[in-house]
Amino acid sequence: MLFILDLDGCVYRESQVVKGAVKTLACLQEKGHTVTYATNNALLSRKQYFKRLRGMGFNVKPEEIMCAAYAAGEFLRKKKAKKVFVIGAKGLRDEIRKAGTRIVGEKHSVKGVDFVAVGLDRQFSFEKLLAAQQFILGGAKLLATNKDATYPGANNTVFPGCGSIVASVEAASGKKAFVVGKPGPFMLEKLLAQTGYALKDTLVVGDRYETDILFGKNAGAKTALVLTGITSKKDLKRVPKKLRPDYVLQSVAELARFA
Ligand SMILES: [Mg+2]
Repeated sequence: MLFILDLDGCVYRESQVVKGAVKTLACLQEKGHTVTYATNNALLSRKQYFKRLRGMGFNVKPEEIMCAAYAAGEFLRKKKAKKVFVIGAKGLRDEIRKAGTRIVGEKHSVKGVDFVAVGLDRQFSFEKLLAAQQFILGGAKLLATNKDATYPGANNTVFPGCGSIVASVEAASGKKAFVVGKPGPFMLEKLLAQTGYALKDTLVVGDRYETDILFGKNAGAKTALVLTGITSKKDLKRVPKKLRPDYVLQSVAELARFA
């Protein structure tokens, strides 16, 4: 089977590994299953996630990590984008550069930019919004790593997510973004093509209903909600029965039953 796991709230919470995660996933791999990861977080590059997961004890290869920054780079490569304006962190910029595109600055002439790519950017400003708007009005297309409006911080706090920035760029430009992250199909299709698994042999696992579970459901894969993150059992009661996940697990440690 192919397992596609979310990261934050699923295999770890900030810097803390979910109890039993390392052992359970290693056990699945020993039984011949393939374990991969998909995250909407575009702050880090694939290389940075690789180091992070390895540092936590996970047995993972770089190509088993489908993070939104890498996926954005791959999308731009597919589209043969030459010049891109980026609102986003270093991880996203690194992946976009690696995909063979040139990152242009705010002062670039309004014409000739192929894409504006948007990820979470803690230095987001009016100047960046203005530049993005002008490039899009000049013909650039809009790409977003994800549309998560908020993300959770420690002690029950909430921060503005990438989706809040994307919404402002959409409002200013009048154009809708193509979203490379979950719940869109791009990352799942890439993982299937890369591993050769069929949808019926794929289990998507995550803690957030609107992104992780719909990511699997939209594509037609099996889904498992873990209760170590955002969505609770109570939240699921508001979801129509046929749209609920196939499995609800206390944590990823319960994936042992699929070994
Ligand atoms: Mg999550």
